[in-house]
Amino acid sequence: MEFDFELINKFLENNINIHPEAFEKLKNLDESEIERIINEAKLDKEKPLVITPEYLKKFEKRIVVVKSRRKKTIAEEYEAEIRIKRDITKKSYSKGNIEGFVDYFNDRYERLSRILREREALKEASTIEIIKKGRFSEAKIIGFVNEKRTSKKGNIILEIEDPTGVIPVVIMSDDRELSEVAKEIVKDEIIGISGVAGRNGDIIIAKEIFFPDVKLNVERHRSEVPLSLVLISDIHLGSSKFMANEFEKFIKWINCEIGTPRQRELAERVKYIVIGGDLVDGVGIYPNQENELVVKDIHKQYDLLWDYLSQIPEHIEIIIIPGNHDATRQAEPQPAISEEFAEKFYQDPRIHMVGNPCYASLHGVNVLTYHGRSLDDMVSNIPGVTYDKPAEAMEYLIKKRHLAPIYGGKVPLTPESYDYLLIDEPPDILHMGHIHTVGIKNYRGVVLVNSGTFQEQTSFQKKLNMRPDPGRIPIIQLDTFKPTIMRFVS
Ligand code: FE
Ligand code: ZN
Repeated sequence: MEFDFELINKFLENNINIHPEAFEKLKNLDESEIERIINEAKLDKEKPLVITPEYLKKFEKRIVVVKSRRKKTIAEEYEAEIRIKRDITKKSYSKGNIEGFVDYFNDRYERLSRILREREALKEASTIEIIKKGRFSEAKIIGFVNEKRTSKKGNIILEIEDPTGVIPVVIMSDDRELSEVAKEIVKDEIIGISGVAGRNGDIIIAKEIFFPDVKLNVERHRSEVPLSLVLISDIHLGSSKFMANEFEKFIKWINCEIGTPRQRELAERVKYIVIGGDLVDGVGIYPNQENELVVKDIHKQYDLLWDYLSQIPEHIEIIIIPGNHDATRQAEPQPAISEEFAEKFYQDPRIHMVGNPCYASLHGVNVLTYHGRSLDDMVSNIPGVTYDKPAEAMEYLIKKRHLAPIYGGKVPLTPESYDYLLIDEPPDILHMGHIHTVGIKNYRGVVLVNSGTFQEQTSFQKKLNMRPDPGRIPIIQLDTFKPTIMRFVS
């Protein structure tokens, strides 16, 4: 046995001796751990004169963890490479008047029509004003969908507006293929139309419809090292339906304390966690919410969540955006959860409190996170879109290149001169939450992920026949984009 006199002296200074077998265990521990044992022994009512192996048993669980940490995890080997490319916090100033709306929609038109014009078919798109002069039979325009209705004969009639005017566009019911495409069209989005103009230029019969969409065959960015990203959302801490046991298991797993060898290896690669909003259940979010709250103070809700998140290994960076249950402005884009309510989160340098939506680069991979309130609008406006297939609903949003296209739907939007919800650059990963079901889909190279929830079905969801998918979380490998869904059960 070799002696570490320094270690023995530390205990002797406090009038504590060490049993030789206990010494064998102690010499493998971190300094901080030794200090903790000395401090606890000093405070112990039955202060031990000799530290025995039996006495160390009460620290055993911790000792095992420390020992396994001796070997660095894969994620620990790499420094984080995190860049918040766009965060609206402290940048979003709404004029909140008519002028604000004009600026807002002009910006949306300007940027989305530029994307549409990149297509061969729309390069020469003209204006509604010119079509209305009635000199051309061929019509190509780009505009807002002001209105969409179905005529008695089953034709779909759109009212399209661009900065020069308004014109009705008809999709004939016997054009089955186009009628099918037209089902995807929602109010206020910007589309391209190619068709035939009526003789007086007062109407267009559509032949083709174009969404801004994502280009095919674009090289996606990958990390060069084998790190991964955990996506979670909708924890709803404070709710009586918050699944504490499952969430605790998640925390244990991310500390490599539980799981099969393969699952632990997965945890070892986690470098980033993005939380897509609804961290807590909030207070006064819906009528009679207090009946379903176990923690009725919003400060306490955040404090309790902090207790969990502070147990996440230090080498993992955490990005947090708000959702509609969090303590910030309801209108979107939303600034970060305010420091007043989540003070401790702001004191931790590896936690990044940002707005909703947030565009970040993680080891070179572009991740766009949006809470997902507009998914409600997709479900109620596009036939066939349902709550149990969230990635399909997300596909429509990326096709429209807008996170919340409908104005005056479920999403309160704040008008500003810049449209922060527009998707200029398609991300490599698009992450949302809000509808409490898990879904992953690859759409033209963009990985669409909805990250589910840690809340069991609420009475409100039961009424709407919404079946959440709690305790399951997606993990994406940043070098291969391979997705895995981990399931935590109590
Ligand atoms: Fe939620
Ligand atoms: Zn939500």
